[in-house]
Amino acid sequence: KKITIAIDGFSSTGKSTVAKQLAKHLGYIYVDTGAMYRAVTWFAMQHGFIDAHHFEASKLVAALNTITISFKFNDIVGFAEVYLNGVKIEKEIRTLEVSRYVSQVAAVSEVRSQLVQQQQQMGKDKGVVMDGRDIGTVVFPDAELKLFMIASAEKRARRRFDELIERGDEVTYADVLKNVEDRDYIDSHREDSPLRKAEDAIELDNSNLDLITQFERVLLLVNQ
Ligand code: C5P
Repeated sequence: KKITIAIDGFSSTGKSTVAKQLAKHLGYIYVDTGAMYRAVTWFAMQHGFIDAHHFEASKLVAALNTITISFKFNDIVGFAEVYLNGVKIEKEIRTLEVSRYVSQVAAVSEVRSQLVQQQQQMGKDKGVVMDGRDIGTVVFPDAELKLFMIASAEKRARRRFDELIERGDEVTYADVLKNVEDRDYIDSHREDSPLRKAEDAIELDNSNLDLITQFERVLLLVNQ
């Protein structure tokens, strides 16, 4: 019987790695909800609604009905990539610049309600692994399995830094660590649906876990 798996936690705790492994193993669809908030953020940046000095949330809200976000599975990379109004923006949304603004955009309640509704639609037939910040609390409070991933801010920043360097981005570790801490703060103090562990979620600290051991533990939970 197909179930719904919700994976929440702070940024760069390795949620998407576990989610992708699980989706592949179980033949489920994987939905990266962070990518959806990043897509809306990228749209806002493209339209000049947000930059380092200002954020015109009302203009973004007024334009929300012109945004269509979709995912398309790419056989070569092995996961579903994100599209905004039909244009692939998988690469564009992973920059430190988008990471700087995304938590502000995600704090706008109209943005959240629109994306949450779409996420509920995408997971309505079960057989889905969804990762984010509010999946086990808001999007799918009835999910059969809820994981809440944690790891130290330093470990998380180190992982994100390595990823960005590998892509060729010019960033410093200090900037990445600051971004991780800033997002932790905004994400956990949001009014609408602050990031918190659902009561029935299982906490997984992967500060010192290798990927194989981590996946073995998660599979045990799935099969329980
Ligand atoms: O998961 P990722 O780090 O890509 O998410 C980017 C940002 O999107 C988070 O820092 C958070 O502000 C926001 N987000 C959210 N709710 C989700 C997923 C992501 O608010 N379900």
